[in-house]
Amino acid sequence: MTTMDIDHDRTVDAVPAGGRTGGREIEVTLPVGYLDDQGRMHRRVTLRKMTGRDEALLADPANQRNGGRLVTSLLHSCVTGLGELSPVKRSDIESMYSVDRNFLLIRLRSFTFGPELPAGYTCPACAERFEQLEDLDSLPVRALPGEEPPEDIVVELVDGYLDRDGSVHTALTLRMARGDDETAAAPQMRKNASLGKNALLARCLRSLGDVPRHRLEALGSRILADLTLTDRRLIDRAFTENAPGIDLIRVLDCPACGHELRATLDLTNFLAMD
Ligand SMILES: [Zn+2]
Repeated sequence: MTTMDIDHDRTVDAVPAGGRTGGREIEVTLPVGYLDDQGRMHRRVTLRKMTGRDEALLADPANQRNGGRLVTSLLHSCVTGLGELSPVKRSDIESMYSVDRNFLLIRLRSFTFGPELPAGYTCPACAERFEQLEDLDSLPVRALPGEEPPEDIVVELVDGYLDRDGSVHTALTLRMARGDDETAAAPQMRKNASLGKNALLARCLRSLGDVPRHRLEALGSRILADLTLTDRRLIDRAFTENAPGIDLIRVLDCPACGHELRATLDLTNFLAMD
């Protein structure tokens, strides 16, 4: 990965020029950016506030069965500008990186309902359950510098993948996940989170040692299933640590016992209308 800056001031992007005017649209800057099929990079996005029509999209059973599809439908409805692209096609939204899509969701939620989000946590030391009011606008955002597409994620596996001829492959490269990966992996994700993750990572797999391309594709998610949990943890870390986008890792002190806990901000139902 290239060097990235943690830009705490990036949230000012959520405020339109001239301040929060009560308007229906804001401009934000994507942490990574969307590379269109002609190789142009787009980072400025205009978002419009959610309306009653969007509520219907959220309630649509077909969308509720598939999280990737739901996010695509909602963003396709609420993204009114993407760089110089106009109109914005559904396929543009699908091809955006997941970290950018999640960034837009959080900005959209904050713009429509305000930045305060009640989030629930459980202390791993004393099992105390507590709620904390989070401020979506103050979560740190890591943005890639410049207009270049992101580099591949490189992981050196400890145990590696054991091929059928006995050779072990340890150099793994992945690209960042996109919306179409989320949509494709959603059915497996619904049945089993671990199998869903295998399906998602398999789509993002670019290379593994000397395993030929066609064999990588034929093996698909079976490669991920065969890796040791040691290696899978390495991949998870490479995927999340130093990744661009909104940092959802929260470090909190338990109000009951003072234990310091690290937890991922719970975004379940964060678009709920009530
Ligand atoms: Zn505690």
